[in-house]
Amino acid sequence: MKQSHEYWMKQALIQADKAFKSKEIPVGAIIIKDGKVIGRGYNQKEQLNDPTAHAEIIAITAAANTLEDWRLNGCTLYVTKEPCSMCAGAIINARLDLIVFGCYDEEEGCCGSLYQLCGDPRFKTKVSVKGGLMEKQSLSLLKDFFKSRRKKV
Ligand SMILES: [Zn+2]
Repeated sequence: MKQSHEYWMKQALIQADKAFKSKEIPVGAIIIKDGKVIGRGYNQKEQLNDPTAHAEIIAITAAANTLEDWRLNGCTLYVTKEPCSMCAGAIINARLDLIVFGCYDEEEGCCGSLYQLCGDPRFKTKVSVKGGLMEKQSLSLLKDFFKSRRKKV
């Protein structure tokens, strides 16, 4: 059975919640191929002291390991927040078919907000983009996170 975009986005939100619980900015991602999850990730920048440890990058690496192939043709990435320039670059390099994201990121987003890297026809690989899916849920998780951080300071 083919699951809906909402079904998979909920799985990405579960990943985002893991980030929240480990005091990381709550962003989560999963990658699907043929109706199966082949990679998961959540933001671990603080834990790993790694500026590249974004949810999307971790999920892409996991998916490539699962497939034993860096080419993620035929795969869809679900992520709770619009990808940044680094992640959009990785998405293009991984040759994903489609990315679906939750809330827009007007400060860093490169899949529609600041730039539209994934759909840029000048790149050989074009990735389809669907933004704003379950935007409210992704955004409220982020808002709760920053609210909880402010209280402690
Ligand atoms: Zn990123």
